[in-house]
Amino acid sequence: MFDTIRKWRRQRVLRNAAIPDALWREALEELPFLAICTEDELARLRNLVVLFLDAKGIVGARGHEVTPLQRVIIAIQACVLVLNLDLGFYDGWENVIVYPDEFVPGWEWEDEAGVVHRNGGALAGEAMLGGPVVLSWPDVAAGADWEAAGMNLVIHEFAHKLDMRDGEANGCPPLPAAMAPQLWQKSLTAAFEHFRARVERGEQTAIDPYAAESPAEFFAVLSEVFFADPTLLLHEYPKVYAQFSAFYRQDPAARTELLLDEV
Ligand SMILES: [Zn+2]
Repeated sequence: MFDTIRKWRRQRVLRNAAIPDALWREALEELPFLAICTEDELARLRNLVVLFLDAKGIVGARGHEVTPLQRVIIAIQACVLVLNLDLGFYDGWENVIVYPDEFVPGWEWEDEAGVVHRNGGALAGEAMLGGPVVLSWPDVAAGADWEAAGMNLVIHEFAHKLDMRDGEANGCPPLPAAMAPQLWQKSLTAAFEHFRARVERGEQTAIDPYAAESPAEFFAVLSEVFFADPTLLLHEYPKVYAQFSAFYRQDPAARTELLLDEV
């Protein structure tokens, strides 16, 4: 019964809140890394984006007005991660907040000694545990073009959201029953230690050195690479690629190879 209601509601949202063709095409043009997706994947992505926008608010802060194109650009990238999972992976929080520029987080935290801290630096993005995803629009816009920026802010913050499904981000999201957590830990830890050593000795890395900050950042940054530059991850850390492929249920590097075969 509930399933029937859910399906009916889903159909109604897809019908009533459909994205106009021109807006959809315009948004895809802003996201060249998605050119490797198949028609079927893009069609499923479009439905997911409609449902995502129905479920979440994308709201401007500090005077920023979120345009329809910006909403769709943010939603597409958020949905890429759960294309073969479920939108329910993003349950438990309501809003994406968009700032006109980098922002200073307004929250304070108290350490074990009772000292209250305020985080000092301005941020481009933040995923809050049980709370919103916060994004700076210029950084979203820059990250949409992977070739130019080598980073993707939206994928990064939404990867943190998946990681936070079982509490604080620690680089290990809850895994499906078919995956062995020990294998995930082993592959990710070995790659993280290897990458951190490379960064520490000053090596120029194709992967953003910010990934060496912590296992949580390693997972978020490598998720960006997995979706936006999959062959880079496949070549640099094939075991991580295999784990991500099982977790996200996608094989984006295979799409790239198909594309190359056609040339
Ligand atoms: Zn991060």
